[in-house]
Amino acid sequence: MQSFGYRRPGTIDEALALLQEHGDAARVLAGGTDLVIELRNRWRRPKIVIDLKRIEELRPPIREVEGRLVFTALAVMSEIVADERVQLHFPALAEAADVVGSIQIRNRATLAGNICNGSPAADTAPPLLVYGAEVVIAAKNGTRRVAVDDFIIGPGKVDLQPTELVTSIEIPISATPIAAAYTRMTRRRGTDLASITLCCGVDATGTTRLAYGSVGPRALLVIDNSGVLADPAASDEAKAPVLASMFSAASPSPKSMRAGPEYRVAMLPVLGARALRTAIERQTRVP
Ligand SMILES: Cc1cc2nc3c(=O)[nH]c(=O)nc-3n(C[C@H](O)[C@H](O)[C@H](O)COP(=O)(O)OP(=O)(O)OC[C@H]3O[C@@H](n4cnc5c(N)ncnc54)[C@H](O)[C@@H]3O)c2cc1C
Repeated sequence: MQSFGYRRPGTIDEALALLQEHGDAARVLAGGTDLVIELRNRWRRPKIVIDLKRIEELRPPIREVEGRLVFTALAVMSEIVADERVQLHFPALAEAADVVGSIQIRNRATLAGNICNGSPAADTAPPLLVYGAEVVIAAKNGTRRVAVDDFIIGPGKVDLQPTELVTSIEIPISATPIAAAYTRMTRRRGTDLASITLCCGVDATGTTRLAYGSVGPRALLVIDNSGVLADPAASDEAKAPVLASMFSAASPSPKSMRAGPEYRVAMLPVLGARALRTAIERQTRVP
């Protein structure tokens, strides 16, 4: 590992001042589960690492503010899994957080880090897309909000400047709740990155939101307004072509060592139908 400076600001303003001062030469550290590997392998060589963990304004890490559930940059997966508000309003996010790495990883890995890292296999990306989450980004000259769908660009690429800091990820607690379920496919049980990540959500208006990842450069969100998928009375035969059309943008890499592209494409509708069934069952339980 190459040597680097280490700073632990106590406020968001201090962190932003450091980012402003060092720009490209700085790297933010939250849980470090991705960054430390990158530093060790010399894939990244920042001159300064800015650790967020002492920033008091980012605690408590999960809070309800004006009809939104706010996950600050310090919210880690195990806190998300255990939070009753998440279980009630956004169970698919709890399901996704619960399969990230191992318990040791989940105690460190943040939701914000999972999205900022820009991995196409990030488990939390599909539920955040389905629930319509937003990323709140702070810089010296102000704050901006970006839909997660616009924030994610491609492998390792997100809409974030070197001088900017993600302070939170927020999900609206909608008046039209989305009943959703998360599922994924891995090579083996236990710690593994997914060959497919998938979340499906239905709401009372008959809209179905499907998001899937690990089968292309970024996780994708597709919306069906026909009502067929969300209709509990519609047959599997009626749903199959609609579901298949929602996966037309999947483009798994032939170079991936996790699963062949044909297998991934064949498994997408299987996982999609499974998550859709669970989402429809959950519709009777949405708050
Ligand atoms: C053994 C192991 C297993 C894993 N398994 C999975 C898995 O099953 N599923 C999965 O999705 N991931 C998995 N991961 C990846 C990783 O744990 C997640 O991506 C994690 O959520 C990253 O969060 P972090 O807080 O550790 O981020 P960090 O490593 O601290 O940061 C990651 C990147 O995001 C940037 N960043 C972090 N926070 C901010 C912020 N607030 N503002 C601006 N930039 C920021 C950092 O500069 C860095 O570039 C695994 C990792 C390991 C080591």
